[in-house]
Amino acid sequence: MTSELLHAKLKENFGFEKFRPNQETIITTIFSGRDTLAIMPTGGGKSICFQLPALLLPGITIVISPLIALMKDQVDSLKTNGIAACYINSSQSAEEQQFYIDNLKSNNFKLVYIAPESLSYLDNIFNQLTISLIAIDEAHCISSWGHDFRPAYTNLGYLKNRFPSTPVLALTATADKATRVDIANQLNLKNPKIFVASFDRKNLSLEVRPALDRVKQIIDFVENKPNESGIIYCLSRKTTEELAEKLSNKGILAKAYHAGLDNKVRSKTQDEFINDECQVVCATIAFGMGIDKSNVRWVIHYNLPKNIEGYYQEIGRAGRDGLPAETVLFESYADVIQLQKFASEGLNSDVQLAKLDRMKQYADALSCRRKILLSYFGELVTENCGNCDICNNPPTFFDGTVLAQKALSAITRLQESEPLAVIVDFLRGSRNAYIYEKNYQTLKTYGIGADISWYDWNQYLIQLINLGYCEIAFHQHNKILLTPFAKKVLFGNEKVKLTTVVKKVIDKNEIKQEKAKTTKNSLFEILRKLRYEISKDEEVPAYVIFSDAALRQMESLKPTNDKEFLAIDGVGKAKLEKYGSEFIDAIAYYEKVKKANKTKVKKESNTYKTTLELFKNGYSIEEIAGKRNLGQTTIISHLAKLYIDGEDIDLSQFVSDEEVKQLHNAQIELEYPTALKPYFDYFEEKISYDKIRIGLAIVERNK
Ligand code: ADP
Ligand code: ZN
Repeated sequence: MTSELLHAKLKENFGFEKFRPNQETIITTIFSGRDTLAIMPTGGGKSICFQLPALLLPGITIVISPLIALMKDQVDSLKTNGIAACYINSSQSAEEQQFYIDNLKSNNFKLVYIAPESLSYLDNIFNQLTISLIAIDEAHCISSWGHDFRPAYTNLGYLKNRFPSTPVLALTATADKATRVDIANQLNLKNPKIFVASFDRKNLSLEVRPALDRVKQIIDFVENKPNESGIIYCLSRKTTEELAEKLSNKGILAKAYHAGLDNKVRSKTQDEFINDECQVVCATIAFGMGIDKSNVRWVIHYNLPKNIEGYYQEIGRAGRDGLPAETVLFESYADVIQLQKFASEGLNSDVQLAKLDRMKQYADALSCRRKILLSYFGELVTENCGNCDICNNPPTFFDGTVLAQKALSAITRLQESEPLAVIVDFLRGSRNAYIYEKNYQTLKTYGIGADISWYDWNQYLIQLINLGYCEIAFHQHNKILLTPFAKKVLFGNEKVKLTTVVKKVIDKNEIKQEKAKTTKNSLFEILRKLRYEISKDEEVPAYVIFSDAALRQMESLKPTNDKEFLAIDGVGKAKLEKYGSEFIDAIAYYEKVKKANKTKVKKESNTYKTTLELFKNGYSIEEIAGKRNLGQTTIISHLAKLYIDGEDIDLSQFVSDEEVKQLHNAQIELEYPTALKPYFDYFEEKISYDKIRIGLAIVERNK
């Protein structure tokens, strides 16, 4: 099998120009007849590794998969690419299953997906089939050491015994060394070739934020991305519901998803999310396993995850199409406390606590986060990634010895009996009921840190905990205790290095710009809508038709004929035939309208010029309007536009400096309205529309 032929098949059937790392070598190994174990991260492109060989091999490829929802997705995807595939699982009636089994016998399919529980149906017809390849997806489910053990998987070892000369390909996204060996043994793989792809997903940005005000932070975040699908993982069912409600109240299409909800409700939410009808899903970890949605643009962790494995798998659900995707983790001390409690009470508590600790270290990191993640998975990275919050905003250190002394002596004065929040109140000299009840206001050091904000003190104390000078007594109401190291700071000469607290402020202007990028009329949005309509007709998820990445390429390359359309990544022969003309037409129509608009703009610019000349020659607004047979408001808006565009005209006769100032303030307070009416109402109709129009033009140009 030559590389040229494999590339040609990849393009023809899947529309891709290049293989992702390891795909080609895995495929070549399969063709050599050898068993293979492929370990690739979520979104790494595992499916191609068996789908492409399936097309070229003479017989049928059996794909074992535990995820029923995913089977349908993958089969739909293959069908839109013109590839004959089917699935057999318990979601079908007995007749349906029989129908597919009969058709398998007549060699009508290249691939059949089957759940391990349903494999026995095939047993009877095994000797009537030519089986060329057996692919076992989510292979870690066979190992009781992994985290997704499925009893039905344990029987799969018989496949290799039954078909000793058929190559087996086992695939998984999670496997440490021990699990790897276990998978190979239990599946009876013969001298398997093992591929471990890099777990780096460069297109995922990594960010950790303190959890203060997190609902507001999340609302700002989502409002900034009007059409982008995202998942918010929460620790408790209650939080998923409350958060979904808060987002819904802001007009965001958001739903909760957790194991306590009715099956029907859950699968409806999942379908809506897959079909781009529900933008945000607030979910417990159960969500996302069985879906293959390639255009999840962001993942937020509302709570700290229990361990890095889970965290990495969850953020991995973003950006499978390879386009940039964002991930944000909110870190709160309350979460750490709760998770510590869970872990210490559960099975295997030592291991769980150690894993939680690694998670916390990641969240508190002061160096490139990706390096930390990848080193957890055993990959050594020497370069900083440039796509995490630490790389983008490296922490700055300062001598925090005096701050540390203040905090540690406050803890001493409070006799190591109070939690973090009380210590901060004490340091800041708060006059709340609790402080007075305890008479803390009379103690020495009360209020010695009044010049530092509540938020900052919180962060400094957390840093001191991380540095090991104090610790939280989880089993004693979370009071803060000093460690022996505190003495060195209080009574010795130990210097303490702290990092400056940076609070992420959201710039409203930035939001406006982001929103402008995703306007309804952009070509991307038009293509997205077309994709959605087709997906409804064909009853498949939108991303099965084309990925976001393919639409983005269409937006920038603007193909006008079949040949150019075929050059888009993700367009193969079948998709060109099925959808090519519709998309090419939509792009051509968009270009036509754009051109017509340009001509209109040109005409308009002439009309501005005429107004400008008359105004410069000393005519009044009324006179110009009369001469040009236009309304006075139109002339005023011409002048406003001319001024914004930099024309040298004096507008002081229309509006005073004071009024301009007031308008500017109103603009900020009203959060940049696009219409004039809000201003008119704001000034209780005391400033005329003409003044507002001209005044805002001056504000705009002064920016
Ligand atoms: P995994 O099963 O490893 O999570 P998938 O097989 O679902 O990953 O692939 C993830 C996404 O990447 C899919 O949208 C798929 O179409 C796309 N993809 C796979 N291989 C390639 C490739 N060689 N070029 C471009 N996109 C690819
Ligand atoms: Zn980094």
